[in-house]
Amino acid sequence: MDSRLDGIDEVLLMGPGPSCVPDEVYRALSRKTLGHLDPYFIGIMDDVKRMLQRVMMTGNRLTIPVSGTGSAGMEACFVNLVEPGDRVLVLVNGVFGLRMQDVASRLGAEVDSLEFEWGTPVRVERVAEKLRAADYKIVAMVHAETSTGVRNPAAEVGRLLEGSRSLYLLDAVTSLGGIEVATDAWGVDALYSGSQKCLSTPPGLAPLSFSGRALETVMARKSKVPNWYLDVGMITKYWEGKARFYHHTAPVNMIYALHQALSLILEEGLEHVFARHLENHRRLVAGLEKLGVEMLVEPESRLPMLNSVRIPEGTDDKAVRGRLRADYKIEIGAGLGPLAGKIWRFGLMGHTARPENVDSLLSALKAILV
Ligand SMILES: *Cc1c(COP(=O)(O)O)cnc(C)c1O
Repeated sequence: MDSRLDGIDEVLLMGPGPSCVPDEVYRALSRKTLGHLDPYFIGIMDDVKRMLQRVMMTGNRLTIPVSGTGSAGMEACFVNLVEPGDRVLVLVNGVFGLRMQDVASRLGAEVDSLEFEWGTPVRVERVAEKLRAADYKIVAMVHAETSTGVRNPAAEVGRLLEGSRSLYLLDAVTSLGGIEVATDAWGVDALYSGSQKCLSTPPGLAPLSFSGRALETVMARKSKVPNWYLDVGMITKYWEGKARFYHHTAPVNMIYALHQALSLILEEGLEHVFARHLENHRRLVAGLEKLGVEMLVEPESRLPMLNSVRIPEGTDDKAVRGRLRADYKIEIGAGLGPLAGKIWRFGLMGHTARPENVDSLLSALKAILV
């Protein structure tokens, strides 16, 4: 019997995620499923926690992959830390900052936001000004704004919050595994990521880390965490300790896959992985310049793993993306929100960040754009 699945193309994923998945990770995914309380599986879980701590550069005990995609990580951070009426400041310069705002307001937080033009970074002076004027329980920012390709100043905002009572919540969905994410050194209290960006695992897990201060905040809540599935207190009883308590059935095979992906990253070495992202980003930018295609973001704020370019004048956005997918089997990303129809987004995330992929994209663009 032929199956719909037999028709799946091998597509080069050069958009904003998911990214290309290494064969070793696909092989890990197809291993036999163990029980979620199986002693051997618990050993695999413990490895994953330890490897995540290394990639996130943290000693936080609560460092685990949450079941669900990056947005589940976002939701888990806010739902555990926010109680109705809490003041939250969100720094917004793209789609994912807006999503944080939405998530926090649904929980009854009093959300203030500071907005910056899309395509430009968060300005630390303006954050400092805002913090002098008011006190916030949480200050939240996206490190790598995937909707624009901007790197926000995560270390600098961390320094600003040093010694304050505010918790620092950072979205590292696109940054983790592609550029440095120094959770402890930057004073981040709640960090989340996603499996399908620079970790090059299929979508489905959201690595998360809470500092001691964040955990104390959860313990000191006046009300129960309003979301049963994402309650870190309950999830921790499954991920930690001698006795493991069933909470929900862990996505066992996805955890094998993440185990393999983290092993590959640590074998290559974090520094080498970051350097590979940067080198391929430079190769792409140089090639785009030759084609006369302009970058959206100023050099000092560019993300290596997400390259936004202005769509050349007179070019049909949809037709170009359609031809890349149909004729060249390459997926790229479209613009979102105010940038829809104005930019393309080229991803060089994780396993995608290789010179042969950069060259394939450049030669396809060259052929299409003439
Ligand atoms: C992709 C992404 C998310 C959301 O992740 P999903 O896996 O799509 O739920 C959140 N934040 C950023 C910065 C992202 O790039």
